Amino acid sequence: MPRPKQIHIAGAGLVGSLLSVMLGKRGYEVSILERRPDTRKSTEDSGRSINLALSSRGIAALERAGLMDDVQPLLIPMTGRMLHLEDGTQQLMPYGQRPEEVIYSVSRRDLNRLMITKAEEAPPVNVMFNQQLESIDFENKLLHVKDLSDDQTARSPFELIIGADGAGSPTRRSLLQANQGESTSEFLDHDYKELEIPARPGFGDDDAKRFPIDPNALHIWPRGNFMLIALPNQDGSFTVTLFMPKTGPISFEALEHKDSVKPFFEKHFPSALQLIPDLEQDFVDNPAGRLGTLRTNSWFYEDCGLIIGDAAHAIVPFHGQGMNAGFEDCLELDRLLDEHNDDWAKVLPELDRLRRPNAEAIADMALENYVTMRSSVADPKFQLKKELGFKLEQQFPDRFIPRYSMVMFLLIPYAEAFRRGQIQQDILSALTETVDAVDDVDMDPAKSLVDEKLPPIEFD
Ligand code: FAD
Repeated sequence: MPRPKQIHIAGAGLVGSLLSVMLGKRGYEVSILERRPDTRKSTEDSGRSINLALSSRGIAALERAGLMDDVQPLLIPMTGRMLHLEDGTQQLMPYGQRPEEVIYSVSRRDLNRLMITKAEEAPPVNVMFNQQLESIDFENKLLHVKDLSDDQTARSPFELIIGADGAGSPTRRSLLQANQGESTSEFLDHDYKELEIPARPGFGDDDAKRFPIDPNALHIWPRGNFMLIALPNQDGSFTVTLFMPKTGPISFEALEHKDSVKPFFEKHFPSALQLIPDLEQDFVDNPAGRLGTLRTNSWFYEDCGLIIGDAAHAIVPFHGQGMNAGFEDCLELDRLLDEHNDDWAKVLPELDRLRRPNAEAIADMALENYVTMRSSVADPKFQLKKELGFKLEQQFPDRFIPRYSMVMFLLIPYAEAFRRGQIQQDILSALTETVDAVDDVDMDPAKSLVDEKLPPIEFD
């Protein structure tokens, strides 16, 4: 295929806007179709702030796009999990053991707006709002697009279309019809609801006292089969998310009546209750969201269609990796374009081959991490293994790296992190079976196990 001149992207969300910056820099004429209006122009109060955890893979992609200097001021570092235990005590569990091993809270809206603005700067990307992609006719190379400002649907020709249009992607639907691929969606029987801890009034933007709880941690109230988490925002507020079964004795269904919400928080989250003045109203106003895993067995069509980000691999949010994985898709695509001289006929199958196993692996790790966050973190055996994992990392830094660190702080492919993580888990279980403290672990068998089962990691 000759190098396409024009590329269409469906979706100016997090992944579509980042990708457009990268492709604009490569000299393509990029047009993004986005069904939402331009939120930067809205004069209405833009509502609650929803935030996300950004980590190494997302940062590497933002650096590659030349955006990291602009993103940096939006970030709040989180050094570990602050556990709010049932007995009322708090305990900080550091994520890593080096100062740079932190993750960052960032506002979804501010990050998205920044990337769209950067995309529109030179070299210009054309972002078309209120344009809803309906379907794609791959045979005749036509996009069917509805203009939501007048409800008219038009057909327009395309050379190459990339769907970054999220979990409900119409690009995916048309692409899988064309290449006879398949996708599956598995929904959790748990939902989520977002709430808010407001900033403490009377403190300026540069005053740390505006944060009612420690801003440099991801707060978790683990309660077994359900949990509450909170991530900090720049203005001193926290976005709080309750994850809980849909039905059953402790469930969203059981809290359907407004009057049941406060007693539930009094019983299970009394320390959080004091911080959420609008709890009952938030509970009624904010809908419960669904959580699911989407797996797709083909991400491309010939040399003219691709899906990326949540459109190809939506995952549950418990590893904080959905956006990071989508950003890593963009990074890998940009790298392959360099490697293959922008020959899309080579790049698209190669991206599919390299990325799909990694998307599968992070989907599985994200599902596992729900149990870790809501339950295992409070288990002394889990904490012992975590401590021993750090000790083994200190002693064998090129062989043993805790799985969480491989996923969050390094760029080791997810599938490799998953594979090594399983071996490491077996080693930790064997070494801690009969001991309760890390100092009692016999380090001679530890060394033999690590040497035998974990070859050194090759860093790029
Ligand atoms: P989206 O963000 O869904 O963007 C899709 C875009 O396409 C939107 O702008 C949409 O309007 C547009 N669109 C949709 N349909 C059409 C159409 N027909 N025509 C035109 N435009 C269309 N990830 C992390 O990395 N860290 C976290 O901490 C984290 N926390 C999360 C917490 C929760 C509760 C949830 C639900 C997710 C979380 N994620 C997190 C995942 C993250 O939100 C997603 O992975 C990420 O938003 C995917 O980006 P995307 O651009 O692929 O899709």
